[in-house]
Amino acid sequence: MTAPSAYEELLRRCREESLLSSIAELLEWDELTHMPEEGAEHRGRQQALLAGLHHQRATDPRVGDLLDVVESSELTRDAASLPAANIRLIRRAYSRARRLPQALVEEQARVVSLAQQEWAVARAAADFRIFLPWLEKVVHLKQAEAQAQGYDSEPYDALLEDYEPGARAAQLAGMFASLRDELLPLIDTIAGARRWPRTDILKRNFPIEQQRLFGEETAAALGFDFNAGRLDTTVHPFFSAVGPGDCRIVTRFSDNDFCDGFFGILHELGHAFYEIGLDPEQHGTPAGEAAAVGLHESQARLWENAVGRSRAFWRHFLPRAQQTFQASLADVSLEDFHFAINVCVPSLNRVRADEVTYNLHILVRFELERALMSGDLKPADVPAAWNEGYRRHLGIVPADDAEGCLQDGHWGAGLIGYFPTYTLGNLMAAQLFARAAGELGELEEMFARGDFAPLLSWLRERIHRHGHVQPANDLLEAATGSPLDHGFLMRYLRGKFGELYDV
Ligand code: ZN
Repeated sequence: MTAPSAYEELLRRCREESLLSSIAELLEWDELTHMPEEGAEHRGRQQALLAGLHHQRATDPRVGDLLDVVESSELTRDAASLPAANIRLIRRAYSRARRLPQALVEEQARVVSLAQQEWAVARAAADFRIFLPWLEKVVHLKQAEAQAQGYDSEPYDALLEDYEPGARAAQLAGMFASLRDELLPLIDTIAGARRWPRTDILKRNFPIEQQRLFGEETAAALGFDFNAGRLDTTVHPFFSAVGPGDCRIVTRFSDNDFCDGFFGILHELGHAFYEIGLDPEQHGTPAGEAAAVGLHESQARLWENAVGRSRAFWRHFLPRAQQTFQASLADVSLEDFHFAINVCVPSLNRVRADEVTYNLHILVRFELERALMSGDLKPADVPAAWNEGYRRHLGIVPADDAEGCLQDGHWGAGLIGYFPTYTLGNLMAAQLFARAAGELGELEEMFARGDFAPLLSWLRERIHRHGHVQPANDLLEAATGSPLDHGFLMRYLRGKFGELYDV
């Protein structure tokens, strides 16, 4: 067999596996948006079958034979080339898949599908006991996965590899510690400010149908094509990249809260932009995918916050919002609105948290996940440990588990090790935004006249179109001229919130 034909066969197999994954993605989207409750068992079996098929293909010894042919060929000579990147990534995925027993993969898919349903029930009832047996199963399966994958210092490291290749818990702990040391004084300073926003204006009546209309209009104005995507609602916002021409944003609306639905849409829109900006020719190949989860989150957080919570953004969109929600916003000034959407106060909810306190919510989850994986924390003790984490890092304690440890769907979905990517995303977003502003000039003037295309093109050019040809950190460094540095986020926060609160 020649190396080019072996390479072609590897790519064909990858594309087929990517089709299988996208079928699972669509089933999950349906499960979280439209599926009737009693369909859960059957959906669990469907997902387990697909996961099993995917795993069988991914671990087929034929892949190993093909890799052996291409790895010693001309194709890998230029390490920075597309084929070399694909071959590296296929080898990595093959090695990781081979370490996982088929039965474990199928059991995880089945359990996770059911656990997500039970999480939603538990959350609605504010009763952790309903979710506990499922969390125990998920943690147990994830520990088995970590054992199968192997790790240097702790089980959590093995799970981080799925989201941030190369990241280690100990190194993340150091990053969180230095971030916390700089965030706490800023939060204290803001708490002592004499100026304070009127947040009641965001808690007036915002009819859900109008929120949907306004959200869709805004997403379209920012560049989202509704012929190639849709917007639906659920318990917890998420995004689903079904495939080229099919990007699905899912949010939740509440008729007495403007921010929940709207900023949920902007966040998921940022994810969608990344997927849409990937090279369609390379779809389904490993080097054609997004480079890492943290970088994906950076795109979401950039559109949600750096863009969506800026004064310039609302100079353009507030008049339209006032037309849409006349009874609730007609008397609200741009200054008051902009201040209100940037209220900075320690709160109980991660998704609704302001940009300054947000990373402390992630720190709480990171510490808990790490302890769950090492066995230092039992799933039954999660509510108490959660409340203690909030008291320690944010100075407040939830009244019940719905606003406490049941607020996020990640653990039910088997996503242990995912949370740190939000903080990495925040750091990268601030770094990218600073660089884009430096290169593009007056971003604020562009936003104010409704021109978001230059920023989107910049992100496509510097990040999206490159896929995963190089590791996320290298891509970030090439795009911004410096390695990941939390100084960018701190400068952004001090500048923005210092001005808003006059501190
Ligand atoms: Zn996200």
